[in-house]
Amino acid sequence: MFDLHGKVAIVTGGNGGIGLGMARGIAGAGARVVIAGRNREKSLAAAAQLGEGALAVEADVTSEGAVRRLVERTLGECGRLDILVNNAGINIRKPPQELALTEWRQVIDTNLTSAYLCCHAAYPLFKAAGGGKIINIGSMMSIFGASFAPAYAASKGGIVQLTKATAVAWAPDNIQVNAVLPGWIDTELTRNARTEVKGLHEGVLARTPAGRWGTIDDMEGIAIFLASTASDFITGTAIPVDGGYAVKG
Ligand code: NDP
Repeated sequence: MFDLHGKVAIVTGGNGGIGLGMARGIAGAGARVVIAGRNREKSLAAAAQLGEGALAVEADVTSEGAVRRLVERTLGECGRLDILVNNAGINIRKPPQELALTEWRQVIDTNLTSAYLCCHAAYPLFKAAGGGKIINIGSMMSIFGASFAPAYAASKGGIVQLTKATAVAWAPDNIQVNAVLPGWIDTELTRNARTEVKGLHEGVLARTPAGRWGTIDDMEGIAIFLASTASDFITGTAIPVDGGYAVKG
């Protein structure tokens, strides 16, 4: 049920952090993985880690042309596409009154518009394959607010709604679309946040019932589940992977 041999996956931002954790899970279950990111060296190193068949493609997912070329290259080199993980993301930590319009657009384009672009470009390949799996990465900020994350929270709330709309539209095509809402995971992104946001580290430990930060290994299982036939009747959901953070009263 969890076997992904013969399948091909694109993981955006798969060259580090949560994307790399998910790429490892999906590759470990047998799929061929295409890593998409801007940093070529990082992507090549990640692909090498995933073993034979993994591919690194340089792509800025805010660019419609780059996304189209990413999908075309995947089709050309791998012959099909079955799984898409929309994971690429950034944050610019400022209160709303200090966030410039260019910064707002940068975050929305990277975290939300990119997912639309990738879904749009991938749809014909999923149709050709007789179905597909899309995993969109949300956040605790899909649920909660934070003073330092106006554009980020808007993008991650939007990801959940994009997930629902796409799930409904494409269910007849046997395409399942789900969101994953990671809790606080130790990555480059949150290492920066820990230095920029006073008290964040202690706050996360106190609020997370599991009593620890998540690791990128914690993201492997959910990726395999949502990419496999085990989740064929699950679509439009947003699943927290957060050590209980979202349910603590
Ligand atoms: P990292 O900073 O470690 O990874 C971000 C990834 O996104 C990198 O691989 C980066 O690659 C890629 N990326 C950024 N911008 C672009 C772009 N324009 N085009 C292509 N790739 C891009 O962060 P995380 O692993 O922590 O974050 C991954 C996702 O998980 C994000 O969507 C984030 O919002 C989300 N998330 C993270 C949480 C956490 O606690 N860490 C919690 C909840 C959600 P490159 O620089 O090479 O382009």
